[in-house]
Amino acid sequence: MKLALLSMLMGAAFSAHAGSPLPAPVDQNYPGTLVLKVDASDTVQNIFRVKESIPAKPGKMTLLYPQWVPANHGPSSPINQFAGLKISANGKPVTWHRDNVNVFAFHVEVPAGTRTLDLEYQFLSPTEANQGRTTMTPEILGIQWHAVTMYPAGYYTRRIPIQATVTVPQGWQYGSALELDERKGDDLVFKTTDLETFVDSPLFAGHYFKRYDLDPGAKIPVHMNVVADTAEAVEAKPEQLELHRNLIKQAYKLFQSQHYKHYDFLFALSDEFGGVGREHHQSSENGVKLDYFTDWNKAESMRGLLPHEFTHSWDGKFRRPAGQDVPDFNTPLQNDLLWVYEGQTQFWGQVLSARSGLQKSASVRDQIAVNAARYSSIAGREWRTVQDTTYDPIINSRRPLGWSSYQRSEDYYNEGALIWLDVDTKLREMSGDKLSLDDFARKFYGVKDGMNTALHYTFDDVVK
Ligand SMILES: [Zn+2]
Repeated sequence: MKLALLSMLMGAAFSAHAGSPLPAPVDQNYPGTLVLKVDASDTVQNIFRVKESIPAKPGKMTLLYPQWVPANHGPSSPINQFAGLKISANGKPVTWHRDNVNVFAFHVEVPAGTRTLDLEYQFLSPTEANQGRTTMTPEILGIQWHAVTMYPAGYYTRRIPIQATVTVPQGWQYGSALELDERKGDDLVFKTTDLETFVDSPLFAGHYFKRYDLDPGAKIPVHMNVVADTAEAVEAKPEQLELHRNLIKQAYKLFQSQHYKHYDFLFALSDEFGGVGREHHQSSENGVKLDYFTDWNKAESMRGLLPHEFTHSWDGKFRRPAGQDVPDFNTPLQNDLLWVYEGQTQFWGQVLSARSGLQKSASVRDQIAVNAARYSSIAGREWRTVQDTTYDPIINSRRPLGWSSYQRSEDYYNEGALIWLDVDTKLREMSGDKLSLDDFARKFYGVKDGMNTALHYTFDDVVK
């Protein structure tokens, strides 16, 4: 009897969290504003210390740590570096239970009389390179908000307001597409925005910092915010700056539209800060080696990164595959059209690198020839389509492969670009050189100039 009672009680306790269905996201305003405070000033232990208050009402509530990171194409958020979660209400501790099935969900019973839950937790930087990307060094830090933000389940993220404050190390400067309300000492107080825009607007800060205007006098400004390991490395020579300004001019000639209110390249030049290329609607995270400006002739291959990430503001962020139309950061992304999203961005990244002069035309043609040669002999083409490789960020999380030619991996980038090169040459052939993929770009990305939310598309839209 006692045993039976015990097992019944334990059963009840377990089943309460055994994959309880999460509240489905609803397209309605969240009642209240999340307030996030990130202390990013600890460059000794490299720990981001977070306090967050979430308006709540008594009863059952589920809090989520983001799982699906839009530009990363997989369920790859760094929950393994998330630690120290403590929740309280009116100064008293509140117990949380992690969902038994969905480890990104945390269930709480909000006590009577509660109007706000107070959360405390940390985001830990790796202590060794094989544990994850280094996002804080003695000179540079990068904050991807999905790594430091929890949010209530049950609402579209674009309907949840959030106000964030970040403390940076003393005297550091920063770049971000987030709009600042005011700087108080080393506290950056940002304007309230919605959670979707927030997570899409990361921040780089640094001891050595320089901000370059890439479109002087323009109504819609474009800036390059450079942080680096050394003071010398942030300095761009006038002729180098000119090539980056050409990139903006050439992109506007091609797309004939802008889908942002302002655009910020976040650009880290470092031998310690983790390399990165991640697109956002009004900004991009770019991280390459320290000698980008200082050893210019050696750096040519790195100069394809900014053209690629800038293209994404049109291809991937403004025009977005229908399968990427998700209500929150815990709903799976569908990757089947990434051969357009990434493949065509790879194509335009190469073309804009050449047209701006950031890379020599001959170098870009060589890259394309190398890819064509590689795909002419790759064994995995016998069993997998390019489209099937769009699922690799989910299947393999970008880990090394044992049999890479046979397995293939994420070929929707470079083989995707070859598809678009084929389309370009076909259009030129069939129209007697009157039409090319440039015309597709104008018709597909040049619509609704000034619209800075996503316009989704299907395969049929691309064909049309
Ligand atoms: Zn990309």
